[in-house]
Amino acid sequence: MQQAASGGYRLGPELLTAAAIQARVAELAGAVSRDYEGLDRPLILLSVLKGSVSFATDLGRSITVPVNFDYVAVSSYGQATVSSGHVMLLKDLSMDVAGRHVLMVEDIIDTGLTTAFLFEHVQRHAPASLKLCVLLDKAERRVKPVEVAYRGFTIPNQFVVGYGLDFNELYRNLAAVHVLEPDAT
Ligand code: 5GP
Repeated sequence: MQQAASGGYRLGPELLTAAAIQARVAELAGAVSRDYEGLDRPLILLSVLKGSVSFATDLGRSITVPVNFDYVAVSSYGQATVSSGHVMLLKDLSMDVAGRHVLMVEDIIDTGLTTAFLFEHVQRHAPASLKLCVLLDKAERRVKPVEVAYRGFTIPNQFVVGYGLDFNELYRNLAAVHVLEPDAT
């Protein structure tokens, strides 16, 4: 287990075990596969760098209909643990999504500002459909309403790391989701 302290915080207890995450990802992939069966072109899994990559990769591996992967990047929290509310597109779509079915794959929704921003952006490219699949939902923190088609877990308002989610670029490689705690030592 990695215990490195970073910026006054350290890795806290597991909130979701690796097994619980993998079981839920398999369920979500089953639902997505059923709902998108029979498309004439592959479903586009659009994930948000870097935090959603672990989730999108595992989800994509378990989906049984043809998929394409694409990635966008937005400005992140930097070294803070609370949202600044400002979202900026750092990397745009590389595929033409016009007329395609797109599933946006997000690691976590907090205020909803990032997702709402990205939804509006992708909608401007006229996809055939656009839905959202999110692993972790801090539902009580929502400022901007977003419609979640597939949800992994609703979690309390705690800053979490692991399974793609970072703090200062650390902890993305962990297979479980942990709470980040203040380092009192
Ligand atoms: P929102 O715009 O919904 O407030 O925030 C979404 C983004 O904030 C996520 O994509 C993620 O990058 C970051 N974020 C929100 N909550 C957490 C958290 O608990 N842990 C980590 N590592 N990032 C978070």
